[in-house]
Amino acid sequence: MILLTKHQMNKILSHSEGAYPEECCGLLIGQRRCGDIYVCEVHESTNIAGTPVDRFEIDPQLRFDLERRMRGENLDLVGVYHSHPDGPALPSQTDIERTWESNLVWLITAVKGGNAVDTTAHILVGSELRFEETPLELIANDCDIGIPDGLDFGHD
Ligand SMILES: [Zn+2]
Repeated sequence: MILLTKHQMNKILSHSEGAYPEECCGLLIGQRRCGDIYVCEVHESTNIAGTPVDRFEIDPQLRFDLERRMRGENLDLVGVYHSHPDGPALPSQTDIERTWESNLVWLITAVKGGNAVDTTAHILVGSELRFEETPLELIANDCDIGIPDGLDFGHD
């Protein structure tokens, strides 16, 4: 399961709608805890793909900057989000061919005619990097994320 706040989800939805008819993309920073993923931060990326109408590519500088900042913090890169303009909220054939590391959650938002209509979450599992849909739960408030300070949740 992936948990994020309504505020974080709204940020993803408005980024998806604002980028229409192109795909938007971004990175999710958070914590893995007992098999669940808690999102702490949503970071918008520029879509640097050559054809952003049907492709997305995260700006590597954003990832580099975030990973440098997360060093020493109890946070990890836990996922990526992108939108499908006038497409379904499911991994596309292109997505399946372009998967990279495992354990990342992929949020995919379907945008129809400029309106975000559906978002689903998928986790990449196994050495063959297969997508498995995972439940997505919205938490009411930013402060309800419920991660105690100073605990080491370990890494998979
Ligand atoms: Zn896609």
